[in-house]
Amino acid sequence: MIPIERAVEIVTATAAERRAGRMPPESVELAEARGRVLREAVVSAEDSPPFDKSIRDGFALRAGDVLEPPVHLRVVGESRAGKAFEGSVGRGECCEIMTGAPLPAGADSVVMVEYTERPESGVARVLRSVAEGGGTLRRGAETRAGDLLIPAGRKISLADIGLLASAGRKTPMVSRKPRVAIVATGDELVDPTATPGSGQIRNSNSYTLAAQVIAAGAEPVLLGIARDDLPDLREKIGRALEHDIALVSGGVSMGKYDFVEPVLDELGVTTLFDKVAMKPGKPTVFGYREGTFVFGLPGNPVSTIVSFHMFVRPVISSLLWEESRTDMLEGVLEAPTKCDPERVAIVPAHARFADGAFRVRTASWKGSSDLAGLARSNALVVIPSREGTLAVGENVQFLSLE
Ligand code: AMP
Ligand code: MG
Repeated sequence: MIPIERAVEIVTATAAERRAGRMPPESVELAEARGRVLREAVVSAEDSPPFDKSIRDGFALRAGDVLEPPVHLRVVGESRAGKAFEGSVGRGECCEIMTGAPLPAGADSVVMVEYTERPESGVARVLRSVAEGGGTLRRGAETRAGDLLIPAGRKISLADIGLLASAGRKTPMVSRKPRVAIVATGDELVDPTATPGSGQIRNSNSYTLAAQVIAAGAEPVLLGIARDDLPDLREKIGRALEHDIALVSGGVSMGKYDFVEPVLDELGVTTLFDKVAMKPGKPTVFGYREGTFVFGLPGNPVSTIVSFHMFVRPVISSLLWEESRTDMLEGVLEAPTKCDPERVAIVPAHARFADGAFRVRTASWKGSSDLAGLARSNALVVIPSREGTLAVGENVQFLSLE
């Protein structure tokens, strides 16, 4: 049994060592690119905005001309978005201007139309003064040519979609999604559409895992249920090993019919650990065969979810060449919580933001098969392994499930 921190280290180091050449870049339509990991740095080719522009509908003028309103100015032209006024604005003059239009030469500010009147054609009456530069945005105020807009390795955000379009990248290069095979094991399992007979339950892990795979930015491949016998396990796990990642749920504890580890051995998988000092999730197996990363995840539904969060997600993130990021948040305990001296506990919890901090308390649940208990919580809190009890007000790490 190894400490959880060590297990996370092994998983991330192994993924980083063995991912070379994996997940080549592919191009994607811009509107589909959100959440994908960008494989090219995007550097701005132009200043933004590319010219001094008006951010108001109104009149471009010299701020010095309207220090003591009301002031009458001669209207010398019009500058509209996409069609600049070619002349210049002199003292005592102004130019009608629209939002997004280039600021004409000579003008330094824009007074919005609401603060003006048109007593006669060719004349504007300006009712308010304006600070120099008011109502305008200078060339390069947002970004300058040569600025790094998005580093390679970032998960593309909504704003990034807009930046990519502005930078002329209609089909950005992103990491191909890793394909993650999922095999559920257990003689007791039936498909969710079937009515369980005596001693049977419906397979839920395949679906929570698939949903977690999708959320992590990869593509699930459901290979169904393997029975607890060697031939069926060999066949299904063998197929799973042809993917970037193979996830096998159940069959990794100490039971008489837990055959997953021997089958992994037989199929040439190098196992790096098979027990982690955590609860739930103790019987988590990690290894590799050539380019495939392999996980044997504990069968209990909450354990499977927790193990995926802790160990599978970092591997997917590494395969995607995603820049390092941590999903753990820091919070303050709201209720005393007993520790386990042997194992780190990762338990369903309620987290809420109040008075400037996250407040976290463990939820009531019936152990590692209690999906309904997990469903009533919104976080998983990490309770460190030590003697005694954590007091109210102690800092804890947690993972938001929202
Ligand atoms: P195992 O790790 O195979 O001993 O399974 C531990 C517990 O998890 C048992 O109660 C199983 O019935 C349950 N279990 C295993 N696989 C699944 C699954 N795919 N969906 C729901 N429950 C499962
Ligand atoms: Mg089983």
